Amino acid sequence: MQAPTPMVILEGREFRFTLANPPYEKLIGRRALGRTVAELFPKGEAEFYIPLLTEVYETGNPFVGKELLFTMPDENGVVKTVWIDIGYHPFRNEEGVIKGVLAIVHDVTESVLARRAIETSEEKLRIERSKLEAIFYGTDSPMVLFRGPNLVFEMANQKYLDMISNREVIGKTLIEALPEIAESAFPNIIQIVYNSGEPYRFLEGHTPIKNLKTGELEDRYFDTTFARITDHADKEFLVIGHAMDVTERVQSRKELEEAKHGAELATSLKSSFLANMSHEIRTPLGAILGFTDLLRDRGLSPEQRTQFIDTISRNGKALTTIIDDILDLAKVESGKLEIEKVEFSFFELIDDVVDVFREGAKAKHIFLRSNIVGEVPERILADPTRLRQIFLNVVGNAVKFTHEGGVTIKVSCEEINNLQRCKVSVKDTGVGMTKEQQGRLFQPFTQADNSTTRKFGGTGLGLALSKRLANALGGDVAIENCEYGQGCTFVFSFLVEVVQSRNCIKGDGSKVSSENELAPLTGLRILVADDSPDNQALVQILLKRQGAVVEAAENGRVAVQMATHRGYDLILMDIQMPEMDGYEATKVLRAAGYHKPIVALTAHAMAEERDRSLAAGCTAHLTKPLDRQELVKTVRDLVFRN
Ligand code: ADP
Repeated sequence: MQAPTPMVILEGREFRFTLANPPYEKLIGRRALGRTVAELFPKGEAEFYIPLLTEVYETGNPFVGKELLFTMPDENGVVKTVWIDIGYHPFRNEEGVIKGVLAIVHDVTESVLARRAIETSEEKLRIERSKLEAIFYGTDSPMVLFRGPNLVFEMANQKYLDMISNREVIGKTLIEALPEIAESAFPNIIQIVYNSGEPYRFLEGHTPIKNLKTGELEDRYFDTTFARITDHADKEFLVIGHAMDVTERVQSRKELEEAKHGAELATSLKSSFLANMSHEIRTPLGAILGFTDLLRDRGLSPEQRTQFIDTISRNGKALTTIIDDILDLAKVESGKLEIEKVEFSFFELIDDVVDVFREGAKAKHIFLRSNIVGEVPERILADPTRLRQIFLNVVGNAVKFTHEGGVTIKVSCEEINNLQRCKVSVKDTGVGMTKEQQGRLFQPFTQADNSTTRKFGGTGLGLALSKRLANALGGDVAIENCEYGQGCTFVFSFLVEVVQSRNCIKGDGSKVSSENELAPLTGLRILVADDSPDNQALVQILLKRQGAVVEAAENGRVAVQMATHRGYDLILMDIQMPEMDGYEATKVLRAAGYHKPIVALTAHAMAEERDRSLAAGCTAHLTKPLDRQELVKTVRDLVFRN
């Protein structure tokens, strides 16, 4: 028999090999012909196979065995192990009597080994995976596993799910499951780790996470690590991620930093506030003291006397306003502000406010209108003093910062829970503000622009106070719209109780021309540069009496022009002035070769002011309120010295 399949015939009850083809003998590594199974096979193998053969021999039923392990030493004593499939069939003579067994053997070693190898690697994977799962589900920190280039959620432990409101994420891509993180750095980082295989540690990564319970996006920070791992079975990459929510830590640190920054800012605001305040208080005070002093003179005409008293009174009132503002602000800040509830006419209040500014607006050739929109109650229960304060500040600012066009006030009210929420919008066509300037408003001690103080005066308290007052009245003050160079619309609101019927009012303003006056006299030629008309007048009067010819400039730029064209024996130079301040004007004059004495005048009584003015090129420095004798002496000394 030359068949390639190993095959034998085993005869008799002792199963003697009467036929064994070469493939069979090759398979078992020995010669078999003529021997019995018991002789040829090792004991253990014989004990296994003989009962099977006997069964076939006695019953005539064939037997099939699969993947049986067969071990036996070959002729050289080398033990050989093979896996075999066997088929035993009864072998009969011509009469049909069973004489033995025909055995057909298949060597299946290779395929068994190959399958075993696969099984082992699968087993390994299973072990790896269960290790991974143990880490995943056992750890206290959030972990996640993404599969494939689209970063599909493969696993996520409970801690991770807790962070994302227990969303269904498995099987979804990162972006499908967490759309809100698309704008953060995370998707990119995970993708880079996936593509490059380089692990990545990303500390305090910031992203919004939607809280599904509240529907709100919450700012969150995570310390994360991402690494790529290989999936042997699918030959696809996975990214394993570990994330710690460190939001609390980051936020408390930020709060600390902000508090520190806020404290620093508050300190610097406070010192600049103090400097401004000192200037604001000293300016009217200077006028009051100066004119009071002038009143002592016998030779004054009744008109002059009245004029001086008016000036003193006007400056006294300005001073009171500033001090009242500071006190009010202090009250609101410390929660001690008491809100009154009295009945009054809302329309009268609006009229009053418009009246206050009517003359000023006319003088500036700008219009001032008020409109009632819809139904507005006539008699209301509220705090008229506080309301008036807010009105005066917001409308006052609009008038102050508008030089062309005008100011439109619109008043409207709507009912809310048996109360009326009234809204006043004050729209101007004035200088406007940049976004940055707007951002600085409503804080006490700040103005949109530091040069504002110089140009327009004011302490930067008005809006801060108004906003707090409006808050106390159940409303607010806000900028509705404001553009640099285009004007602003401020809106303030407050709650009132209605007393009676509703009605409407209207107001308006018209244009009137204003006059200007200059008073030059003969004598020593002196230029006074000062933006405050009162101070200008005061210095002029003082010097005029000494026989000087005095001219005035309202700011540094004008002073420079006048001094270079006309030449003076001496210049009295105020430091804080709009357009060009005293330091700058002095520097420009000195650079242009102007060598006559320049005396700095400032409301700041600080040594550094003095040093700064001398450094700018001033010859001497005088502090307001001015001392009459000192002024005259300084001027005389300087002029004669030159
Ligand atoms: P102040 O008493 O200095 O006017 P406010 O708090 O009332 O203080 O105003 C602060 C600053 O806001 C002003 O100095 C000015 O720079 C800016 N501001 C307020 N209202 C207007 C407006 N209508 N147009 C332009 N700037 C304004």
